[in-house]
Amino acid sequence: MDLGLSGGFAVVTGGSSGIGLATARLLLAEGASVAICGRDNIRLEHAKMELSREHGAERLLVHCCDVTSRTEVEAFATAMAGVFPRLDLLVNNAGQARMSTFRDTTDDAWRAELELKFFSQIHTVRAFEPLLRMSSAPAIVGVNSLLAYQPEPHMVCTSAARAGVQSLLKSLAGELAPAIRVNSVVLGLIDSGQWQRRFEASAKPGETKEVWLAALAKSKGIPLARLGHAEEVARAVLFLGSPAASYVTGASLEVSGGVSRYI
Ligand code: NDP
Repeated sequence: MDLGLSGGFAVVTGGSSGIGLATARLLLAEGASVAICGRDNIRLEHAKMELSREHGAERLLVHCCDVTSRTEVEAFATAMAGVFPRLDLLVNNAGQARMSTFRDTTDDAWRAELELKFFSQIHTVRAFEPLLRMSSAPAIVGVNSLLAYQPEPHMVCTSAARAGVQSLLKSLAGELAPAIRVNSVVLGLIDSGQWQRRFEASAKPGETKEVWLAALAKSKGIPLARLGHAEEVARAVLFLGSPAASYVTGASLEVSGGVSRYI
């Protein structure tokens, strides 16, 4: 199936690591031009080197930007508009999780988490909407978590924020229709930069990552018996964001190895 992405223009926030990097790589492989952002310049440089080595530098824009800052996101959109003529796909992927129970979460932590989860969608949609409207088939894909529907007791704040983001994306799908399609992927456990950092912080001495991940998958009861790979998420993002999904909006696609317990 031809996804119809070749010759298109995409933005992937948080494209310097994990799922965002895999999404940028797959978009480039499909023949699209891609702009990525992240906060850490060194991580961005590594991603730039890796992607340029595989696909050349001509179709790649790398920009340092914190998605919680409206002015930085606006500057990213301006930089993108200087190089690409329009935007066909906006992937709102940047972010991270916060582990804390209700008792452990301070007011400041609540504010920081709500700001990250909501404004990583709000600032980018506002800043890139004019460029999206120049496309004949524009789409937005939000990267969210299964926690939106299935809150975890050790991730109370993140779970609540993610439920709100699903609501926001549903509203956007209505308000931006029929011009712009808006969908989401809701993820289970995906082996990425986040889990690499958690492995480094919590593995027992001598424990390999493979063993650590297998134990994690077992403890979570994942039916497919493993964590997902970033590229497996990227494939779902590309489908939802492509002209091949032209009649899909306001939808969410679960990529979780079957770990959800709701119908
Ligand atoms: P990674 O840590 O590998 O990648 C996160 C990316 O987001 C990095 O490029 C990071 O770069 C960037 N980022 C984080 N905060 C900001 C910010 N404020 N502004 C701009 N860029 C930012 O994690 P994943 O690939 O796993 O995460 C991708 C998305 O998927 C996240 O939103 C995450 O919450 C979500 N998710 C992941 C799950 C998983 O199991 N992996 C499960 C459910 C959801 P830098 O730090 O340099 O800014």
